[in-house]
Amino acid sequence: FHRCRSCEAVEIERTLAMIKPDGLSGNYTEKIKEAILESGFDIIEEAVVQLDVERASLFYAEHADRSFFNSLVKYMTSGPVCAMILESPDAISCWRNLIGPTDARKAKTSHPDSIRAMCGLDSEKNCVHGSDSPQSAAREISFFFGDDKSEALEHDEL
Ligand code: UDP
Repeated sequence: FHRCRSCEAVEIERTLAMIKPDGLSGNYTEKIKEAILESGFDIIEEAVVQLDVERASLFYAEHADRSFFNSLVKYMTSGPVCAMILESPDAISCWRNLIGPTDARKAKTSHPDSIRAMCGLDSEKNCVHGSDSPQSAAREISFFFGDDKSEALEHDEL
């Protein structure tokens, strides 16, 4: 794995990493966590969660109009996921670099050292997620670890 560049001028950031259901069922969790720690990230929080259709649809709401959306939600609810808050200098782009491109088949040729190349299958079952911007990171960390999660559940129960 490539060590992320670490420079005092680069801001310490947090990002949301997730091992998707195929990562957990394929027993890739320890290998992925080793790659995370070797690359210089700290794992600040971690939770294994079973998403239901509503929560998975909310997480991927930006893709609701895409043809792959229903299949994506089915995949993301097919078993538990492991959500993690990672911290490092430049964490958002470092983690995106480490996971590689969306399509794991392409990753195998273009980014053979990436996590998706090693653990993913195709453009859907790609094993891991990473926030793509500071705004997404804030939303996604809050989705799994913030207060708005319990507020949303309480609201739904009304
Ligand atoms: N996805 C899919 N088919 C596609 C593109 C994406 O099933 O053609 C799934 C895949 O699991 C991906 C997720 O939808 O990780 C979110 O897509 P996005 O384009 O945001 O890719 P990412 O940021 O995860 O690389």
